[in-house]
Formats: sequence, structure tokens, C-alpha cells
Amino acid sequence: MDPATLLDGLTERQEEAVTSTGAPLCILAGAGSGKTRVLTRRIAYRCAGGSAEPRHVLALTFTRKAAAELGRRLEALGVRDRVAAGTFHSLAYAQLRQWWADNGRRPPTLLERKAGMLARLTGGAGGTRLQPADLAAEIEWAKARMVAPDDYVEAADRADRQPPLPPSAMASLYRRYEDEKRRRGQLDFDDLLLDCVSALTQDRAFAAAQRWRYRHLFVDEFQDVNPAQAALLACWRGPSPDTSTDLCVVGDPNQAIYSWNGADPTQLQQFSRREPGATVVVLDDNFRSTPQILAVAGAVISSGPGSGNLLRARRPEGPLPWMRSFDTDGAEARGIARVLRDRHRPGAPWSDLAVLTRTNAQLVAFERALGAAGIPFRVRGGGAFLSRPEVKAALAALGQPLAPLTTGLLDMAATLRGPVRASAPAAAVGLDLDLGLELDFDGDGDNEDGDEPAAEPDGPAAERLAVLEELVRLGRDYLALEADGTVAGFVAWLGATLRSEPPRASLDAVELATFHSAKGLEWPVVFLAGLERGLVPISFAKSDDARDEERRLLYVAVTRAERELHCSWARERTVGTRVMKRQPSPWLEEIEAARAALAAGAAPAGPTEWRSRLAKERARLRGARGGAPATRSRGQVLAGGDADPELLAALKSWRTGAAKAGGVPAFVVFHDVTLATLAQARPATREELLTVPGLGPVKAERYGPALLEVVATHARSRAGPGP
Ligand code: ATP
Ligand code: MG
Repeated sequence: MDPATLLDGLTERQEEAVTSTGAPLCILAGAGSGKTRVLTRRIAYRCAGGSAEPRHVLALTFTRKAAAELGRRLEALGVRDRVAAGTFHSLAYAQLRQWWADNGRRPPTLLERKAGMLARLTGGAGGTRLQPADLAAEIEWAKARMVAPDDYVEAADRADRQPPLPPSAMASLYRRYEDEKRRRGQLDFDDLLLDCVSALTQDRAFAAAQRWRYRHLFVDEFQDVNPAQAALLACWRGPSPDTSTDLCVVGDPNQAIYSWNGADPTQLQQFSRREPGATVVVLDDNFRSTPQILAVAGAVISSGPGSGNLLRARRPEGPLPWMRSFDTDGAEARGIARVLRDRHRPGAPWSDLAVLTRTNAQLVAFERALGAAGIPFRVRGGGAFLSRPEVKAALAALGQPLAPLTTGLLDMAATLRGPVRASAPAAAVGLDLDLGLELDFDGDGDNEDGDEPAAEPDGPAAERLAVLEELVRLGRDYLALEADGTVAGFVAWLGATLRSEPPRASLDAVELATFHSAKGLEWPVVFLAGLERGLVPISFAKSDDARDEERRLLYVAVTRAERELHCSWARERTVGTRVMKRQPSPWLEEIEAARAALAAGAAPAGPTEWRSRLAKERARLRGARGGAPATRSRGQVLAGGDADPELLAALKSWRTGAAKAGGVPAFVVFHDVTLATLAQARPATREELLTVPGLGPVKAERYGPALLEVVATHARSRAGPGP
């Protein structure tokens, strides 16, 4: 390809990033600003111009999905099959195999799941509440940070870890795990990185050969690099200052979402400090999303600590992002399925649409609703429900095909309730063993190549448990239809109910994905479902750092949308067999503020103006500041006429009580203007209430029933006694 055509359609800044001769080069930019585009164009440009030979180029990223995306874009530029591209793990594995072969060594076998070995090693600790998955996750964290067993206690203390065992016991288990693994001649996935580092460090000839082979290194999503990967990258570059390798990294500090798993975003943030000769290019235009979607994204991220860079939108205006609440999670999934169907028109394929949730378990409701509606879908990330290993194992443990489902299901439910899955008596049914010993507990369920971080923080344990609870729930639904149903009947029913399309790249299907697995991707229409407290942020994100990471995760999710963004939450959610009342995510307030600011005026003009408008709306929504209520573009319930003075007095008196009960000043509950609007609108339902300016979902949840009661009581008193 002619180098000049590779610069077509780039902004000046992007062109600078593509053509810069700086090395190392760091491209810092927000979501959707063309980082991946610039990275791939730069590779093609260098190859076309002759300043890089394709066979000496290595393009790296972190997950298989991101690597696939990188590969797709390189292919479009005509260089895919000439340059090496993949994940850190896949490249390390390839080099190690070479090294083993060169040294006449038999390749060690790969230990795909740590949990089995850990369960055996802790087998003696009967009666404990240990989850092998949590232990595996903790060891993975240590190995990602290159912390050896001897250094674990100190490192865990410094990082404020909350390990599943006391730190010294954790260190000892970690040591025994490493010894046992080496004794068996096995490697785990983390060892691929670490052993490749040792091979390159010990064997100078081997290192020189690898550096000769790959002398142009490109890394996408650099904010997610962990210390083990950074060390490998340093080995690939060779000792400074005479490294001849050129390096280009791109990333966005606001999208660092894998710190829980050992990633170290300071590698990106402090790049220019660590690399004195580095050239840094900053991109600040967003080409992916409408100004409306970026306004929401900016509101989410800028209310967090220290990150206020708002991206300039280059796309035309679009609709105001939607915000909806549903009575139940089932209603949410069905409601979204209806909108999906509506959005699918000639020229708008299914693949333009995506539903994103915080956890894998939440996706099951969508598999079901889309299956029922006959909408083709594909599950990205943890894999479709029925192909998840824990689901397969649990189904196999239910019993013979013709056995009644009730028995197996009761066993399974009992097992899930039991505190100790590795040693509870219910292990006799086989489910425990399958869960704890046989399954992939250290990855995200589709991790056979081991080149991907696990999809969920917390540990995969809670996620898997939630998935199995979903299975029990589905079993109950099936038994409600067929009281004496068999195991085989259940499996057939599941197959029909959760009808997923086989994973064919060409298939036109709606994408279902977790926030984590959506990173780097984009769709014209995106639904963010289950935006509830406990999910967004996730309940186990307790520290400030963990909550900040959850906020960035929501920012990643919002910025996947190109044209339409639909946000929703459910007032009631069935988790396993429990029905739980839900509250909206605390960050919906930020989204509401952005929506109100958008509805009140034009799209954000400049960052400064927008920021002040947003701050004003936030304050107004919190009832902390006055000002006339914003006019809203969506349907309002404002009944004609003035505020009813008696109702206004009743509302004020209610507010006095609510403020006293909450120990806050009255204006924090509601501003006078909001009460006046309520007294004018006299809403009778929650939906009507939500159209009153100043009343977002958070306040509607907290005060809605009481407000509706005040209005209803007033209406009854006005109507007087019946005839
Ligand atoms: P993320 O942070 O989500 O990984 P990114 O910074 O890598 O995003 P890209 O995916 O490269 O951004 O680009 C976002 C979208 O904008 C893509 O569809 C890309 O093709 C498009 N795009 C980028 N630059 C331009 C441009 N100069 N003109 C038109 N479209 C562009
Ligand atoms: Mg990208």
C-alpha cells in the first residue's frame, strides 16, 4: 500500500502519531480517539515506507479478543499475515517452545487450572471456608506482580491485600503449590511469562536472536500491562541505553480495569518519566460516539478523582441517552429484547447491537429473553451459559438422563448453600469435585490458551457460584412446567430456551458481553443493563481504589456506544432463588445530571462550559442549589395550572420530617422548585414522578413512595367523602 494513502482521513495529531520517528513513542488518548487505528496504521505505514520490515514487527495486546480485533484491523490494511501479532502469553509460549527445542528439552505440560492442585494441597484443612478459586486468584495476583512466595507477606501487606488465608499461611500454600507444580514438571500460564523472562535473561544468545527477530514492538491497551509483562517487554527490548528495539505503546489511563488482577497502570502514566527519551503524543478527538454519549461518559469519569479530560466529539449529534427502570430483571431483559427487535431494520444488522452487563451471570436472562424472542445472539467473554465449564459439569452431575430432575436439583441447591464446596458432604454427588477440582477456576471459562486475564474480579468463585444459582433457578422454572421432568428433559428444554447461535464470525447476531470483555470494541447501539448498587459498583469493591476501578469500568462500557446508549436497572432482581430489592447505581446520578444538562441546552460546546453546566445540574439534582427547573425534551407530566398551595404545604411539611429523619437540611431532600413542580404536576405513578425535573431515579427510589402517598392523600381529601 502507498504510504500516503495510509494517512488518509487522519487528523493532524493522528498523522503525527503515525509518522513520528520518536522512539520510544507513547500515544495517550481517551476512548474512541483512534489509538488502535493509529497503532495499526503506524505498523502498515512503517512497513510500506520501508522503515520496518514486516517480519521484524511484533504487535502485542492482552486478551485474545483484543488480539483478534488487532488482527482484523491489520488484515484490512493488508499486513496481517506479514507481521506477528498476538497476546503476551501466546508470544512467550512460542518463544519458550523454541528455547526448549533448541536445548533438547521436552516441553513441560501446561497446568490449565490451579484450583484442582490447590484443593488437593488444602485438602487437610477440613472445615475451612476456602475456595480454591480465591486461592488461585491470589497466587495469580502475586505472580502477575512477580512476587515470589518468600516476598508474598510483605508485598500483600504493602498492597493492602485481603487474602483468603492469613498472609503467612497464604505464602506457605503458594510455596507448596510452586514446589508441587515443578515436581510434576508442569507450568501454569503465569509461568509462561516468568519463564520466558528467565530464558531471555540467562541465555544471551537466545535473547539476541529474539531481539533480532522482533525489533519493532507495538503494544495496544498498555494501561493493562502487569509487572510480569513489563519485565518481558524489557527483555524483548534489551538492556538500555543501547537497545536497538523501537517501541510504541498506546493506552488510556481512564480505561485501566485490570488492577485487581495485578495490572500496573503507572507503567503508562509514568512512561515518559521512566523513559527519558520518550516522545508522547496526545489525541483528544473522539471519532466513535455522539456528543450526547460522550457527555455521559465525561460525567461518569470526571466526577471521579483526578480525571477530567473531556473528549471532543467529531461525530454528529445523536439522541439523548435513554434511562429506564424496570420492575424486575426479567422485565428488563424482555423490555430490552423488544427494543432490540425494533432497532433491527433493513440496513441495521443485529451485529450493530450489543447488551453489556457487569457480570457473566446477568447475561443469562438475556440469553433467555433473546432466545424466546427469536433474536440471534452471540455471547462474548465468559462464553454462552450452556458452554460454560461449570454448567456442563453441573449438568453432568445431575444424574442419569431418565432420573427425575427434582433429586439432582435439590442436591445442587443444597451444595450451593453449603459453605464449603470442596469438603462438604454433598461432594458425594460429584458436583463439588467437578466444581473445585476439575474445572477451570483460574481463568474466565474460555481460557484454554491461558492468554487472557480472568473476566471478573473477585474472583471467579463468586461469578461461578452465581452462574450455578442461575442453573438452579432455570431448573425450577422447568419443573414448574413439567413437575415430573427428567434430567434429559431439562437439558433439552435448556437447549431450546437458551438458543445461542454457534460462534461463526460471519453470523449476524446481537452481541452479549460483560463490561470487561467489551473493552476495545464498539457498536452503534449499546444497552447497559443492571446498573444497580451491588453490581455497578460491584459489591466487593470496598476500597476507594477498587471503586475507582469500577467507575473506570462503567466509563469503558459507556464509551463502547457509537450512536445510541440505553441505560437501565431493575427494582427487583432474582439472584439464584432469592428475590432481592434493588437500588439504582449511585453513578446513575451522574448520568442523570448529564442527561438533564443535555436536555436543558444544546450539546456540550466546549469542555469548560460543559463542565460548569454539568456541575450545576448535579447540584440541582441533588437539591443543593436553586434555579428554575430545566425544561425537558422528553414527555412531561406537568399538568396545566399553578402549583396547588395546599399540596405544596403538605409536601413541605413532609420534607421537614424527611430532612429531620435523615439528619440533613431540607434543601438536600428537595429544593423548593422541585416541590412546586410536584405540587403542579401531581404525579400519580412512579413513571410520572420520574418526569419531574430534579427527580432522578435515586431520589425516586428513596422518596418516591412517600411523595406519591402525600399526593394521593391530598387528592382524596380534596375529593371529600364519597356519596
Ligand atoms: P478504545 O480506547 O476504545 O480502544 P481507540 O482509541 O482504540 O478506542 P479506535 O477504536 O481506534 O479508538 O477508533 C474509534 C473509532 O473511530 C473507530 O471506528 C475508528 O475507525 C474511528 N476513527 C478513528 N480515527 C478516525 C478518523 N480520523 N476519521 C474517522 N474515523 C476515525
Ligand atoms: Mg483501542
